[in-house]
Amino acid sequence: MVVGVNPRLAEYIDASTGFDADACMNCGVCTAICPLGMEHLPRELFRYVVLGLDEEVRAHQEAVYSCLLCKLCEVNCPAGVHITENVRALRHYFNQEIFRSKRASQVGSWFGPQNSRDSGPRINAPAVP
Ligand code: SF4
Ligand code: SF4
Repeated sequence: MVVGVNPRLAEYIDASTGFDADACMNCGVCTAICPLGMEHLPRELFRYVVLGLDEEVRAHQEAVYSCLLCKLCEVNCPAGVHITENVRALRHYFNQEIFRSKRASQVGSWFGPQNSRDSGPRINAPAVP
């Protein structure tokens, strides 16, 4: 199995949003205490970010947007990880990526085949006398 790794992922997310999960020791307190029973968030997902497993991170977008930001996990985290700030950072990252890909597809549609001279709609201009 080929796994996509982006070693600069944590750095990239951190640069714009302040993501930081270096102190996480994977103890599982956050998972045990979460009222939503989040399986992947925070510890597993944070680990994926730190390891640069971009595809795994993207596969768990739903968990990132489902989090209540209630801070129950955060106030009980023995390592003092700013979990909800990290969740916000991941949302910001996903929002940026979604915006970027939408913009790219819009630009593509402006210059796509439907707007090219060969295949676009024709305007029936009156013949020049
Ligand atoms: S409680 Fe804190 S240290 Fe423990 S796994 Fe969760 S984020 Fe990591
Ligand atoms: S902040 Fe999110 S991950 Fe943490 S306990 Fe609340 S719902 Fe669960």
